[in-house]
Amino acid sequence: MENIEIPELFGTNVFNEKIMKERLPKETYKALKQTMEKGAPLKPEVADVVANAMKDWAIEKGATHYTHWFQPLTGSTAEKHDSFISPTDNGEIIMEFSGRQLSQGEPDASSFPSGGIRATFEARGYTAWDCTSPAFIKEDSAGNATLCIPTAFCSYNGQALDKKTPLLRSMKAVSQQALRVLFALGDTTAARVISTVGPEQEYFLVDKELYLKRLDIIVSGRSLFGAPAPKGQELEDQYFGALKDKVSIFMKDLDIELWKMGILSKTKHNEVAPSQFEMAPVFSTTNIATDQNQLVMETMQKVALRHNMICLLHEKPYAGINGSGKHNNWSLSTNTGNNLLEPGSTPHENAQFLVFLSALIMAVDKHADIMRATCASSGNDHRLGANEAPPAIISIFLGDELAGILNNIAQGEKNVKAEKVYLRIGVDTLPELPKDNTDRNRTSPFAFTGNKFEFRMVGSSQSISGPNVALNTIVAESLDELASRLENSSDINTEIQKIVKDVIKKHGRVIFNGNNYSEEWAKEAKKRGLPNSKNTVDALKAFITPKAYELFSKFNVLTREELHSRYEIYLEQYSKHINIEALASLQMVKRQFMPAIMRYITELGNSINAAGKHSTVQKELIERISGLLQSVNKKVKNLENENLKAKTLTSAEKQAVCYRDNIVPLIYSLRVDIDELETIIPSDVWPVPTYSELLFKL
Ligand code: ADP
Ligand code: MG
Repeated sequence: MENIEIPELFGTNVFNEKIMKERLPKETYKALKQTMEKGAPLKPEVADVVANAMKDWAIEKGATHYTHWFQPLTGSTAEKHDSFISPTDNGEIIMEFSGRQLSQGEPDASSFPSGGIRATFEARGYTAWDCTSPAFIKEDSAGNATLCIPTAFCSYNGQALDKKTPLLRSMKAVSQQALRVLFALGDTTAARVISTVGPEQEYFLVDKELYLKRLDIIVSGRSLFGAPAPKGQELEDQYFGALKDKVSIFMKDLDIELWKMGILSKTKHNEVAPSQFEMAPVFSTTNIATDQNQLVMETMQKVALRHNMICLLHEKPYAGINGSGKHNNWSLSTNTGNNLLEPGSTPHENAQFLVFLSALIMAVDKHADIMRATCASSGNDHRLGANEAPPAIISIFLGDELAGILNNIAQGEKNVKAEKVYLRIGVDTLPELPKDNTDRNRTSPFAFTGNKFEFRMVGSSQSISGPNVALNTIVAESLDELASRLENSSDINTEIQKIVKDVIKKHGRVIFNGNNYSEEWAKEAKKRGLPNSKNTVDALKAFITPKAYELFSKFNVLTREELHSRYEIYLEQYSKHINIEALASLQMVKRQFMPAIMRYITELGNSINAAGKHSTVQKELIERISGLLQSVNKKVKNLENENLKAKTLTSAEKQAVCYRDNIVPLIYSLRVDIDELETIIPSDVWPVPTYSELLFKL
């Protein structure tokens, strides 16, 4: 492969700071910066100049169209392309793009989910430019380019119909409250606090030809049938293993596409399961990282196709081996780059660290239910609360050393002996906290990893917006409370100690450093009163409690109505997904498995005739197969009936409960028979590719 100059390639398709500086008049650039950093309103004349420069740049890159690029509540992204052409009086055209077109759009919104917020007759939706996330150019494989403008998507009344609006609101909330804390601690230099995230993205690759033979994977993203392959992940030979050529070539291609769009793709490796991989970018603001993660998922799928592979982002494409998640590495930092979850090198920094750490512990314990709800989906139900990592119980891993330090402070000890160093408590005397004091714990859903928290429950196909909206908001609430305490105290040192003490006493139950997969932990967590919602339908209820209404409205992140609409939309999505799985199961069984099995029974019958008295083996087999076939037939009828009933229910909640309690078990039960049949039917008769092929034939 030819050598690429990565620094030159990086960000070539982004209308970034460098391009803005080059192409915008100084005054315009300054005004735009004010808007980007301080949210100052953008004057129409400034928007016009920016739009024109953006258009010229995009046209030079080969773009003919632009689109407002937004994130409706479907969880994916939406775009509607308009060309730059505009007719002139003399019958010609010019390429035009106005400030108004850049700043605002009015896509017909009637077909996006609104959860009852917006009746179809007033289907107008508005998209509004989010200039804190840079515009970029998306290319298709034929080289066609489109200028994409990241936008928020709202109803006529300004209600959020998307995933970006609440995220921006939550970033503002956490910034304001964190600044209050910093100010109370004597830091007057920070102007903003930014929530940051580095999302590690897991995914599977599968051969395209095989994929096209699996209706289940095509329509539902996961295999609804499939007996285990003789080999799974038990040899532990895949994790971090050498990359196969085909995969390595795909990854390189992927990196190039991502780098062009300014995405800091950094780490790539084989994951635990066969044909499973991971990509991790360098972190950025929660807003940019959320936009970029959507692009990462889209680009992975696009690039895989070029290599005759399909990228599966479903949380559990295959039963019996690891599923995929998204590790959401989250922290807070000042605009000057000071990471607030970093134990520092001065006593002052350590005091600051202790306050922010306390805020997190408090927030996660108070709103564990909300954190769990943000990760709820039919796909993720196969991970959380099933037999896989992490469990559905939210707890925090701090590591024994850090947990020990907090406990000691809570017990009022003045001199705390951590393993590596002595700690004296108090802003004046606090020496260095041990760095890298956290051992790795891979089983925790929310682990402190030295200078950030890693939230591991997020599903691989999900937008990371929801989890980060929640994190930003719940932490804003705790910081608000702690800021008030600090502001009203005359002795900061004593107050910090009191804060740690109170937080450990009241919220210390959420800290757990042991094995989160163990049964003992589930029991212990129950004793501690920690919530444990094992499925989406139960978990989503956390969005419509008085506690949630109060939290999200207090910080102007989501109104009661917006929360309720989300609840309804997510329930409906759950039901729709299960319905698709039911229909795909039925279709495969009736049109692929049953006919193949019956053909084989005929073949066996012929063989019995031919073998005469030596046909005991054939008879035994025909007996077993026919028995299973009868059972399959019964289950098919049952699933058909129950699925029809589920469809008639009109309440979103009742319907989701019905899908969960009646349909999910029937789909699974049908699978059990089919998977058994797969193990006894000849491979040339079996109508679909098996796990051995899907997992190992890359
Ligand atoms: P591991 O797999 O060991 O957890 P990785 O290096 O794969 O670690 O991923 C760590 C992620 O955390 C990266 O995306 C990294 O950029 C991100 N990260 C590091 N520091 C911060 C921070 N301050 N805020 C948010 N994310 C961070
Ligand atoms: Mg990780």
